[in-house]
Amino acid sequence: MQYFLAIIGGGPAGYTAAEKASKAGKDVVLFEQSALGGTCLNVGCIPTKSLLYGAKQYFNATHAQKYGVTAENVAFDFSAMQKRKTIVVRKLVAGIKARLNNDHCTVVNGFAKILPSLQGGDGGRLIECNGETYEAENLMICTGSTNFVPPIPGIKDNPAIWDSTDALAAAELPKSIIIVGGGVIGMEFATLYHELGVPVTVIEAMPTILPNLDPEVVQILLDKYRKAGINILTSTKVESLDGGKVTANGEVYEAEKVLVSVGRRANLLGLEALNELELERGAIKIDEFCKTNLPNVYACGDVTGKIMLAHVASRQAEVAVSKMLNDQINDQIVNVQMVNYRAIPSVVYTNPEIASVGITEAQAESMSIPVEVKKLPMTFSGRFMAENEGETGLCKMIVDAKNHSVLGVHCIGNSCSEFISAASFAVRNGYTVPEMQQVVFPHPTVSEILHEIL
Ligand code: NAD
Repeated sequence: MQYFLAIIGGGPAGYTAAEKASKAGKDVVLFEQSALGGTCLNVGCIPTKSLLYGAKQYFNATHAQKYGVTAENVAFDFSAMQKRKTIVVRKLVAGIKARLNNDHCTVVNGFAKILPSLQGGDGGRLIECNGETYEAENLMICTGSTNFVPPIPGIKDNPAIWDSTDALAAAELPKSIIIVGGGVIGMEFATLYHELGVPVTVIEAMPTILPNLDPEVVQILLDKYRKAGINILTSTKVESLDGGKVTANGEVYEAEKVLVSVGRRANLLGLEALNELELERGAIKIDEFCKTNLPNVYACGDVTGKIMLAHVASRQAEVAVSKMLNDQINDQIVNVQMVNYRAIPSVVYTNPEIASVGITEAQAESMSIPVEVKKLPMTFSGRFMAENEGETGLCKMIVDAKNHSVLGVHCIGNSCSEFISAASFAVRNGYTVPEMQQVVFPHPTVSEILHEIL
């Protein structure tokens, strides 16, 4: 059977593409070597958030006095938290299976390998999986990314070393932990372990943790975490490892486990036959419609190395499938969607959370865009005051000084992850401050900060 589309990888990019194309009546085959849902659902976003929520319940119970509540003998059961996490993941994987359950979608469980293409190189694509060969008119590569293992002496075959997948699978909490890399993964795990009472040291090579975010926002988290007892070392480079001993900047630090979270790399396994596929910094190079340099070959998600976020992957998949379907009708159609990489929201699930969208003040400066920076503590929201004893938070809005459009919003404070989408609308659609002023926000909500700040 000849498929319209073969997709390798069943993460947010792959399953979104499979659902969209098959619901449009096109025959799709999706290959997944592990569980549907990919890194995000199985060993990333969802299991982390499930455990973080459990940790937050415990932490809040033990810090409830500031709200006039005394809770005695508060305890947690880590294995129960792990069990709940597994159930959450299982239910969501089942949900994806159900979404792909239609006559036009075939899901194959196995490692898929691309075979040398048919005659002429652009007549279709052949894929091998479980000893069977599949042929498709279009190919979409959604193979994701894997944890990067830095070339640090002593890292290989070291039983004390964990990556994020090991940490999520662990049956027991470590007695102490050193986290190498104070990026998103590092700081979310630092939050989890700290809230469950594990001594945490974070070692970050750059002068600050979360180096891609607004420094003023990050400083608030840094100050709070250091005050709470998390040992955060910045501008500190790990030189070597020996079991749980970490030598960095000439000092030795020791813990039972060392979690290494220094970024992820595109996963190109199984694609070897595409020897003319163009790469860029180790990831697949794509155009604005997620097309690669090879005819009828698309790539979406982490494997493109654009922005490694699940919601970027699924948006890329929507765009790629729209392009494919439009190309079917008329290659001249220009009114096809594109991914707007300038309006991608992102959240770091620390406590307090950080959420942002659009450019930072520093990025505006590097792009020579004159901006006005509006700033307000989150305490200007009554709801925030009512529910965040002892916190001040911060909201920053970056506004184009010439046309007054909103270019970026950067916040720290619970629960900014839940209203950053409103800021995304503004950035995506280029709303101006006077336009935003006409939007009514419900009272009392923390989201009102987006109105107060104007
Ligand atoms: P990252 O790029 O966010 O952070 C890695 C950090 O490690 C950087 O701060 C870097 O300076 C530091 N580093 C690199 N080498 C080092 C060394 N030898 N010693 C000390 N520090 C070193 O990568 P990550 O945290 O591994 O996350 C991977 C990807 O997954 C990211 O793209 C991230 O956005 C994504 N992710 C997103 C979420 C979310 O959206 N909430 C959660 C987890 C992961």
